Amino acid sequence: LIRFDGVVKRFGANTVLDELDFTVDAGERVTLIGPSGSGKTTILRLLMTLEKVTGGVIWVNGEPLSHMRGKGGLVRAGEKHQREVRKRIGMVFQQFNLFPNMTVRQNVTEGPIHSLGVSRDEANQRAEELLDLVGLGEKIDAHPTRLSGGQQQRVAIARALAMRPEILLLDEVTSALDPELVSGVLDVLRGIAESTDITMLCVTHEMHFARDVSHRVLMFDQGKIVEEGPPEQIFGDPREERTRTFLHAVL
Ligand code: ATP
Repeated sequence: LIRFDGVVKRFGANTVLDELDFTVDAGERVTLIGPSGSGKTTILRLLMTLEKVTGGVIWVNGEPLSHMRGKGGLVRAGEKHQREVRKRIGMVFQQFNLFPNMTVRQNVTEGPIHSLGVSRDEANQRAEELLDLVGLGEKIDAHPTRLSGGQQQRVAIARALAMRPEILLLDEVTSALDPELVSGVLDVLRGIAESTDITMLCVTHEMHFARDVSHRVLMFDQGKIVEEGPPEQIFGDPREERTRTFLHAVL
């Protein structure tokens, strides 16, 4: 479904991703772990086209995400494919980024109505289902500013799912939360992982969550994958010294 092919990302002289190759299959849940600054968030931002690659190609469903320069030269992406891919990828950010001037309901229905052309009735029905799913059915007409951080993040998850994404990107979604609110958000995500076949790519510092939900864990350091494997192996029997020191420091 997703393939990074020799992807390089530099910010000035700082090489953040260094000839990165990896794939994610449809329905797979992959967690990115590693020290701060190792390039994990940048990978998600590239997929959301919030950043541009310096070199290499990101393929989604066999087509380049946008025009990119691979080893064999420039690869072009069709305009239609680019628009479709953008609709298929949803992201939840560390800072929830809800629209503060809209109600919870409007936050969740706005995208489907305006970008997907869904009717207001259908969007409302879906919003109600999703807000029930994240345990906030009764807050549907509240304003986000009246909600706790954990509740806002659960609305952000519902908003992302309302777009019926094929791929859900989660960027340290609990990092900005008070500790007692973390588990509620992670439980919602565990439930989504169990009950859907959505492809998930998550950056997290919550190692228990990574162990519970992922099919595969990628350990990053300095823009490269140091080690990858199923969570039992990465957390139970890491092969690389760098993974061991990282896990020792965070667990
Ligand atoms: P963290 O866990 O702290 O979020 P990370 O592994 O997700 O770390 P990134 O956020 O991808 O790391 O950042 C990787 C490097 O890229 C860092 O050195 C960061 O300073 C740099 N970087 C990220 N975005 C930009 C930007 N817009 N301009 C310049 N440098 C940037």
